[in-house]
Amino acid sequence: MMPAMSSLELDTRLTDLAAPKTRRGVLISAGSLALAASLSRLPLDVAYGSTPRHRKDPFALGVASGDPHTDGIVLWTRLAPEPLRADGGMEPRPVEVRWEVAKDPGMRRLVRRGRATAWPAFAHSVHVEVDGLEDGREYFYRFTTGAAASPVGCTRTAPRGRVDELTFSFVTCQKWDEGFYPAYREIAREDHDLVIHLGDYTYEYGIANGVGPRKPQLPPEFATETDTLERYRLQHALYKTDPHLQAAHRAHPFVVIWDDHEVVNDYTGDPFWFSRRTNAYRAFYEHLPLREESIPRGPDMPIYRKVTWGDLAEFSMLDTRQYRSNPPCGFGEADRCPEAFEPEHTMVGPKQERWLLDNLRRSDARWNLIGNQVLIAELDHDGDAGDLFWNDSWDGYPAARTRITKFMQRERIRNPVVITGDWHSTFANDVKADYEDPRSPTVAAEFVAPSISSNGDEEIYGPYYGPMIPFNPHIRFFDGDRRGSMKARLKRSHLEIDWRIADRVGDPNARVRTLCRFAVESGRPGVAQY
Ligand code: FE
Ligand code: CA
Repeated sequence: MMPAMSSLELDTRLTDLAAPKTRRGVLISAGSLALAASLSRLPLDVAYGSTPRHRKDPFALGVASGDPHTDGIVLWTRLAPEPLRADGGMEPRPVEVRWEVAKDPGMRRLVRRGRATAWPAFAHSVHVEVDGLEDGREYFYRFTTGAAASPVGCTRTAPRGRVDELTFSFVTCQKWDEGFYPAYREIAREDHDLVIHLGDYTYEYGIANGVGPRKPQLPPEFATETDTLERYRLQHALYKTDPHLQAAHRAHPFVVIWDDHEVVNDYTGDPFWFSRRTNAYRAFYEHLPLREESIPRGPDMPIYRKVTWGDLAEFSMLDTRQYRSNPPCGFGEADRCPEAFEPEHTMVGPKQERWLLDNLRRSDARWNLIGNQVLIAELDHDGDAGDLFWNDSWDGYPAARTRITKFMQRERIRNPVVITGDWHSTFANDVKADYEDPRSPTVAAEFVAPSISSNGDEEIYGPYYGPMIPFNPHIRFFDGDRRGSMKARLKRSHLEIDWRIADRVGDPNARVRTLCRFAVESGRPGVAQY
């Protein structure tokens, strides 16, 4: 983890952002504010933050928490009384926000409180890193500004030492205009320690008025694809207006990573995408409960990170976009070429790959989970008839995949489980050490979560990918077109996953049911039950 940056470092690295931060829940000192004010060329009284009277609710985007440590958590909000306006309905001035953390939902037994500044350079978002909390317990929090108070959110710190159980959902792909979010409605209602978001939190596409189950009537800016910072902000704000997404964030801490659509479809580490990345990463940071170490610098935003849950689980949350090479055999569905096996092609970049392997080697946890975006198990599209693969997934980077899976085999990594997003379909897979070797052992299980809403109630992928599944006996379960989430209960002896499926996403009130349950047994790699 990077050490916290001083305001000075922050300002010199991000000259165009020029926004000092409250760190670690410490009250901003007059000294640091004076420094910040001079650096951002603002008169001091303005930099102290005004306390305006808000005519509309400034907390229209809700609250969120994330990235639990054993002694703290990140709290997030963004002041935006008019979320569908580029400025959120805020004047371009810093605003003081107060925050409180309590042991009870009535906010009487306060344990921490402080002040933060919502800076216009960060779209009046607030990220507070609270520390000094007890490990492994529930907390409640809220923000206030002027006379306005946010809803009370519920969150949780990570436990230390021996842990017997962890409950978390993992989710992906929530295209706003293709469906409502009944999955989030249920996640918000149910007990969870964590929610893990595996990417495609937003999509870059323009939104047509009147089209899709939400029948939107949006300002004209929404019709265009996201490209500028303002347009990416609008997309995040629009998604965040969904009441079920807000409820899920309010109810549980999230650990969020991205896939491609937060920026643009199927992008890679190629500099071609740097300007889109610069705008998209900034808006992503502004709208999610991320730590200071993830503040973007231009097109770079360090987001891969580890989450530890006592001695039970370690999550290595991967970023398979920012550092990947262009797919050696071309983009999209294409025949595999000999270059695919050249070692220089990378999915996560050499530095992150070393970090992942070090995490796995050094982990003391009983279960080693990998939060991943794109399918890691092989999906042979045509069996012996040809060599056709989808190159945006790990199938486009087989050498990079085999480095990791063979490492799991060689180092006897304890209970690796890959949780994956992206596909808009559900899979339960045995991950093989080497798909080039038909006798290769299973080294891990992979579970691909269905989309929350993407592809809507259409039946598209079942008819297309369904006939390919028999070529891939390690794919133990496949469903093409149902929407929902996966809810995991991790115990010392086994992992159980409920396949939580909405009857439809054309209706926010649609029923959500557990249609089947998957399991992995400790000490036995691969899918034990489906
Ligand atoms: Fe998606
Ligand atoms: Ca084939």
